[in-house]
Amino acid sequence: MQQTLSIIKPDAVKKGVVGKIIDRFESNGLRIAATKKLWLSKCEASKFYAVHKDRPFFNDLVEFMTSGPVVVMVLEGENAVVKNRELMGATDPKQAEKGTIRADFADSIDANAIHGSDSIENANIEIAFFFSKREIL
Ligand code: GDP
Repeated sequence: MQQTLSIIKPDAVKKGVVGKIIDRFESNGLRIAATKKLWLSKCEASKFYAVHKDRPFFNDLVEFMTSGPVVVMVLEGENAVVKNRELMGATDPKQAEKGTIRADFADSIDANAIHGSDSIENANIEIAFFFSKREIL
């Protein structure tokens, strides 16, 4: 069993597709082990995306991630990191395969509906960023 972190981004929360996105996970063998809805501060979003701090899109990314509430989840299942990335689709929704979350619910590379950890190592770091051990069931 593996765990990974998923964030339903502000665009998808605003559109009211949280349930539809969670259905993609649950229908594909990923269990919701923890979840919470929160509104990230600029400080939290900058810390979470610190790896991108020198990229030209960093300020837009922080601005966007703090533009409304997000839904953060720990997903658990076999091969959860890779499976979640497959369900998400490519970063740019225009490049995302048909039937993926980003192809179906995202509008642009900025407003791309969902975040998912890209490795087991980052999943552990990102899960600990948002959840204490007792919140993960
Ligand atoms: P992800 O793992 O597929 O989310 O992609 P990355 O970790 O590479 O990038 C993090 C987030 O930054 C993405 O989900 C996008 O919202 C944003 N992003 C990445 N690359 C670009 C880019 O070239 N331009 C813009 N505007 N945003 C980007």
